[in-house]
Amino acid sequence: MQKTEGKEKSGRRLGSLCLDLLFPRRCPVCHAPAPPGLGICPECRGRLPRIRTARCHVCGKPVQDGERICPDCRKNPHVFTRGKGVFLYDETMRSAMSYFKYKGRREYGEVLAEEVFQEAESSLLDWGVRAVLPVPIHKKRLRERGYNQAEVLSAKIAELSGLMHLPKVLLRTKKTPPLKELTPEKRREALAAAMELGEPAPKVPVLLVDDIYTTGATLDAAAAVLLTGGTPAVFFLTVCIGGGFMVQY
Ligand SMILES: [Zn+2]
Ligand SMILES: [Zn+2]
Repeated sequence: MQKTEGKEKSGRRLGSLCLDLLFPRRCPVCHAPAPPGLGICPECRGRLPRIRTARCHVCGKPVQDGERICPDCRKNPHVFTRGKGVFLYDETMRSAMSYFKYKGRREYGEVLAEEVFQEAESSLLDWGVRAVLPVPIHKKRLRERGYNQAEVLSAKIAELSGLMHLPKVLLRTKKTPPLKELTPEKRREALAAAMELGEPAPKVPVLLVDDIYTTGATLDAAAAVLLTGGTPAVFFLTVCIGGGFMVQY
């Protein structure tokens, strides 16, 4: 039985290597075919803007040395417990993410999720999360795009971590109005009204996954719905995070 499984596994690996040779995956940074067996060229991988400085203990944004909590999180406490974005949202990431989200390059999300998981694996253990959930998008947007970018990421992270993947718990029921003009409280209200539970909320600490962290309002709305449903704690991971603050130093 185990022998057969082993054979099947190596057969699958061989199969995916053959697929890589026939249809090489494209690198999310330079868009050239990636070397066989890899999803990204080693040089491009080295150019990904990893954050190596001090981070806010709540939202994970880069902060000045010695600072525990960033000005934004001090001014507007979050509903989620804590989390982080792995890469800074610079020009390289802006381009990779726009191909992933708007130009049908779904496979870029899988490569980026592999990078995110490698960077955040120890955090997932520290936080004690037991299930992975994508931030939902509205079904109209899902039809236009063909996939929920957050779900591509969360599925891969669940696969790599062995955590439960629960893509149907959160639903985006209404299209949210433009949020730019709204105050943080109004944003949160508008977003919370647009999200609901499609399945019972998990009764274990969960990890929410999204593509980009900007103000954290979407993650707060999702966390609010989950906490109300009985989830004990909500953490998050995003591929990218902006460097600026709404509140100035
Ligand atoms: Zn490349
Ligand atoms: Zn913060």
